[in-house]
Amino acid sequence: MSDCLFCKIRDGLIPAKVIYQDDECLAFEDINPQAPTHVLFIPRKHIPTVNDISVEDQATVGHLFVAAAKVAKERSHDSNGYRVVMNTHRDAGQTVFHIHLHLLAGRPLMWPPG
Ligand code: 5GP
Ligand code: ZN
Repeated sequence: MSDCLFCKIRDGLIPAKVIYQDDECLAFEDINPQAPTHVLFIPRKHIPTVNDISVEDQATVGHLFVAAAKVAKERSHDSNGYRVVMNTHRDAGQTVFHIHLHLLAGRPLMWPPG
């Protein structure tokens, strides 16, 4: 998608602090962090929302969780805990329409969220 912010980050057209990448996904620091660790994991494939995930995308989406857990462990959040979340459309506050898994950690996270 030529007008997608996260496709542009994936393609190196917009700078980001990339902390992890492999064949399936890319992870970078959120520009407006809501916790000491706030990393976004995106599939290389442009998928606008969770509604658009197809059966063929199952491994790709699962891969985001594996990558997020890896980074959480590297940053020693695995025992204290962390949150992984994907927002969908207006009521969840989705602002970028290329799916991304938020990894939030490093402070107590309230539940339920606001
Ligand atoms: P959403 O609200 O769609 O679930 O999350 C979008 C996230 O992308 C937000 O946490 C926001 O701070 C982050 N974000 C928006 N624009 C940029 C950007 O240009 N670079 C980076 N690294 N993060 C961004
Ligand atoms: Zn995209």
